[in-house]
Amino acid sequence: MKYKSVLCPAPFNSIVISSEHTLQPCCKYIGDLGDLTKQTITEILASNTVKDLQKDMYDNKWPTGCMECKASEKVINQSVRTRMVEDVGNDNFTRNMISNLEISSSNVCNLSCAGCSTRFSSGWLKYAKVIEKTTDTEFYRSIIQEVPIIKSDSKLLIKNLIELDLTHCKRIYFKGGEPLLNTDMLAMLRYLDKIDMLRKIVICMDTSGAVIIDKTINETIALLCKAKEVKFGISIDGPEEVTTYIRYSPKNMASLDNMRNFISVFEKNNITFIVAPTIMVYNIFSLDKLVEWWLDDITAAFKHLDLDIYLFNFLIGPNYLSLHALQPATISRLVDYYNNIIETKEYGYLFSNIVNVLNNVEYGGHELHNQMVKYTLDMDKIKGQNVLNAVPELTNEMRYL
Ligand code: SF4
Repeated sequence: MKYKSVLCPAPFNSIVISSEHTLQPCCKYIGDLGDLTKQTITEILASNTVKDLQKDMYDNKWPTGCMECKASEKVINQSVRTRMVEDVGNDNFTRNMISNLEISSSNVCNLSCAGCSTRFSSGWLKYAKVIEKTTDTEFYRSIIQEVPIIKSDSKLLIKNLIELDLTHCKRIYFKGGEPLLNTDMLAMLRYLDKIDMLRKIVICMDTSGAVIIDKTINETIALLCKAKEVKFGISIDGPEEVTTYIRYSPKNMASLDNMRNFISVFEKNNITFIVAPTIMVYNIFSLDKLVEWWLDDITAAFKHLDLDIYLFNFLIGPNYLSLHALQPATISRLVDYYNNIIETKEYGYLFSNIVNVLNNVEYGGHELHNQMVKYTLDMDKIKGQNVLNAVPELTNEMRYL
């Protein structure tokens, strides 16, 4: 049967369980479809909220909650929506049967990454609390917020998952908080194993790689080995000083040595490791150094592993850390820099997309630029960092205009 095509298939076959125990159709949707502490998953999926969202998709109308995808497509011609359409199509896909599930059911995390917030990292809370409550800081306080620590509730998760038909489920994503600090991850793997679905499902996990591996790791690894495929997206954003600046923790948990150790814990298992840095104002100057480390150090040391690096993940929000906050002269220098890499380095082909995106970056104006400066200076003060030690290339940018 041929169905009418839809703008995005996510509201028909994808579910995200957020750290606030709410439901969303995908990780980019702004707002929620219902609250699992007040309704069951079945009630939420049958609700008018979901039906209205599906209607918008049939009418080819961008729902207000989907503005991140719309903005991303404007800048880089790609979004979570385009990936979903590529994956399942937008007409003849299985409707109202879950094929993608994302568990992001806790905000517990040991890092306080630039651009992140208390919604996704409990590590931000102590910094959020000391931010001065002035009108000047409102633009980033509204993003960082002061969401309390939300622990996982495995009973609630499994009670709801039992109601779902997972026979069409192809992929399960574990995101965060930090999935390896979220007990729902293990509960979910056990459940999938029990219903004999684990062997049919691709498990994808976004991890900081900066966790202390605890006593459940052997069981976790044993269960992961039963999955159809396992892909770890490791959060590494640049060379040592850049990635530890962005992926901040007082003890430098995100150091490249820790990343290497993390990979070695799982090296005997059939896991694909992917580095897809979040490209923003702090790491756009040194992506080639990250690529060199990944190819010369990691790929050379772990030859038997399936390793990959993607340079397609551009930060859209918060927009004051996006490339739009950089002045046109800086962007122009970056275009020259990466064009030179493309021409002179063996790995240069990896950067063709970077140059395309840079060529299309529109300057967001002095107000956005100044927000980047203000946020950076304020966070440096609160966290005891200095951006220019990590990213000296920002020297000309770190001035109010
Ligand atoms: S358009 Fe984007 S934000 Fe909206 S449901 Fe689809 S993937 Fe999610």
